[in-house]
Amino acid sequence: MEKSYEIPYPELGSVLGEQEIGVLTRLVNSGENLSGGRCREEFERCFREYLGVPHALSVTSGTVALEIAIRLLDLNDGDEVIATPQTYKASVQPLLNYPVKVRFCDVEPNTLNLDPGHFASLITSRTKAVILVHYGGLPCDMDAIMPIARRHGITVIEDCAHALGADYRGRKPGALADIGCFSFHSSKNITTLGEGGMITLFDRTLAERADRIRSNDADAVYREQARAIGESTSAHPWMMHPGFAFTHDCSAIRYGGTNATLAEPNAAVGTVQLAKLDRLVSRRADIAGAYTEVLKQYSGVRMHGGPEPVRHGHHLYTFFADPADGILRDRLVSRLDALGVQMQLRYFPMHLLAEWRARGHHAGECPVAERMWFEQQVNLPCHPGMTDWQVDQVASRLDTVLGQEVRGTPIAAGTARKTKGWTQ
Ligand SMILES: *Cc1c(COP(=O)(O)O)cnc(C)c1O
Repeated sequence: MEKSYEIPYPELGSVLGEQEIGVLTRLVNSGENLSGGRCREEFERCFREYLGVPHALSVTSGTVALEIAIRLLDLNDGDEVIATPQTYKASVQPLLNYPVKVRFCDVEPNTLNLDPGHFASLITSRTKAVILVHYGGLPCDMDAIMPIARRHGITVIEDCAHALGADYRGRKPGALADIGCFSFHSSKNITTLGEGGMITLFDRTLAERADRIRSNDADAVYREQARAIGESTSAHPWMMHPGFAFTHDCSAIRYGGTNATLAEPNAAVGTVQLAKLDRLVSRRADIAGAYTEVLKQYSGVRMHGGPEPVRHGHHLYTFFADPADGILRDRLVSRLDALGVQMQLRYFPMHLLAEWRARGHHAGECPVAERMWFEQQVNLPCHPGMTDWQVDQVASRLDTVLGQEVRGTPIAAGTARKTKGWTQ
């Protein structure tokens, strides 16, 4: 039997309530076409306004958003893509379908985000794109990354699956580079009833291509479009259909397209959830604050973050145990586990997954990402559905366990030796 925890690691990232049930009931009772697109357009409009981007296209998952974003790169044999290894596999998985060389870029030890210095060193004349993740909801150092990418003409894809609700110097992830990909899976900061995603773009041509791909149209190079059809004497009235004009007057089909459009109930719930986003993220921030209050009193642990004044999306609550300071991560985690606090390690380094090792990737390629994952990372439960009692218990049990770790012997909760102030 699976062990049950008093404070389990959350399966769910967002909470659904009466309002969501209300819009669903109205929608179903209305008899409207649930593939019609009215709610989808409304959700996309709200998302564009929230982010401040010209184009936002909803799709059926974050994975599909990334697949389409990567499709837009027109990758050819021998092209290179730089990517973070510290992520969920969907960020890089679509690259397995292309004859490209992937260069995994190491991360910074305090943020687990792409290391701008290492990024710069991996660029070659074949580099087409970089895929980065705002890890756990903490925005990457875009002021360092973007000038490097621009200088080399590299497309920057932001995987924003963790970063909805975060802010980077007054701008939002998904609006910081070329293409943003979001997930509304149940585990994320908002959800569109279990699955869903969004692609955000600045470039109109790319947005049109993405729109065709997601809605069963061919992504193709169109010739001077359909000029002749209306004029042709042989044209039947049905030939005036715009689809006919398009599909019969294009060359160089890049991709056959698919149906990845978000259904109306999902989109309707997305609009409600987006309106609640700030409240959901501030609840996450309060929980994170309670844990940080405990951690900052101990040496041997480090917070997830940098000196930058950014707003963290708090999708994950991550901190680091430092073995050099005598805090052994695995022992810490098993002691928390014994006290009923479940921990999950997030995101095994991508370059060490079997499918990437089969492509020649190996241990030692990204030493920081490896060290942080194998030795130092800890994630605590942090989601807006947690009760105050659960949050207090995680904080006090963490205090207890850290007290034991610092002294090496079990001591009573709340009396742990506090060794260090931590400032940020
Ligand atoms: C969840 C997640 C995805 C994939 O999103 P789905 O909607 O589950 O397909 C991609 N990247 C990261 C970093 C994620 O956490």
